[in-house]
Amino acid sequence: MDSAPRAVIDLTALRHNLQRVRTLAPNSRVLAVVKANAYGHGLFRVVTALGDAVDALAVARLGEGVSLRRAGIACPIVVLEGCANQQELNLAAANQLEMVVHNLEQIKLLQQQKLRNPVVCWLKIDTGMHRLGLPLNSVLTAYQALASCGSVLGKPRLMTHFANADDLADPATKKQWQLFQGITSVLDAETSCANSGAILGWPETHADWVRPGIMLYGISPFMGGRAEAYDLHPVMSLQSQLMAINHYKKGDAIGYSGSWICPENMAVGVVSIGYGDGYPRHAASGTSVLLNGQRIPLVGRVSMDMISLDLRTCPEARVGDLVTLWGADLPVEEIAEAANTIPYQLLCSVTARVDFVEEHSENGQTESR
Ligand SMILES: *Cc1c(COP(=O)(O)O)cnc(C)c1O
Repeated sequence: MDSAPRAVIDLTALRHNLQRVRTLAPNSRVLAVVKANAYGHGLFRVVTALGDAVDALAVARLGEGVSLRRAGIACPIVVLEGCANQQELNLAAANQLEMVVHNLEQIKLLQQQKLRNPVVCWLKIDTGMHRLGLPLNSVLTAYQALASCGSVLGKPRLMTHFANADDLADPATKKQWQLFQGITSVLDAETSCANSGAILGWPETHADWVRPGIMLYGISPFMGGRAEAYDLHPVMSLQSQLMAINHYKKGDAIGYSGSWICPENMAVGVVSIGYGDGYPRHAASGTSVLLNGQRIPLVGRVSMDMISLDLRTCPEARVGDLVTLWGADLPVEEIAEAANTIPYQLLCSVTARVDFVEEHSENGQTESR
């Protein structure tokens, strides 16, 4: 291993997590969410590893779908934000991308365009998220407009998105589900509601298609949750090396702004990783890292390229030792809490200067890609 930080992507863990989705939602098809570069894990790497074990893929934007088609991916692909204009709609149709339709303008586009290759459409219903989707009182008209539109392939499908599924105690998810059911049960259409939180916490909402994102990557979607409790295996491990060990005196201040003061004479380690790699700048003093598998606290401010560690409990530490910032034995959920953010953001924020390495945990082999 060279001294640069690396993100090890465990594709065996990815397939295990997909299997967990299958076990939890045995009667649903799986629309695997790979938006934002597969939550920072690498779009093509993840899609290739999932292969035909998923029923369809979901991306946020048209460009993400087109790039998958250009890479030769033949699987059904749903564009969650749909199309904004005629040009985009033509591009979507040419690439056989499925469209989410979340407003009346998009319905008009489909009616005006008369596509030669009609597209599969998913009508998005706003049941309380209040971000995208048609209000309940316009769903029946919108459904009929799509069902009778020549640019739409087959029957429109129906979907909604939960706003509070990260909180098992929140009654909002059940309420959204009831509103969705109320309006869709009279329509003969395929349905989809469940993100990771709902797949794990609200089995009644699984419907025809589940839409797992974060759980595929081995992370708990719940506030304060841990993947281990749901038998999910983290796919990404962020690693680096100890690059220096320095000895300071009681009262010496460590790093920018001198926010951490040595309480005694002690060794401080420096690790080659920082916010320029995607390690969160807001990770506070005391946030754990693993040094040779042992938990120790970081101290002082996170800088662009480096962090400092309190080595008092690690007298045997040596320059070159492996440091894990998150991964199998140090949940990214915990690091997100220490940095006052969510694991989703940390995964998406690993920057291009980090080397990505693929691993298959069944044989422990790694290869750089
Ligand atoms: C991102 C997204 C998902 C996946 O959510 P997770 O919490 O990562 O499982 C599902 N559906 C829609 C519409 C999304 O935007």
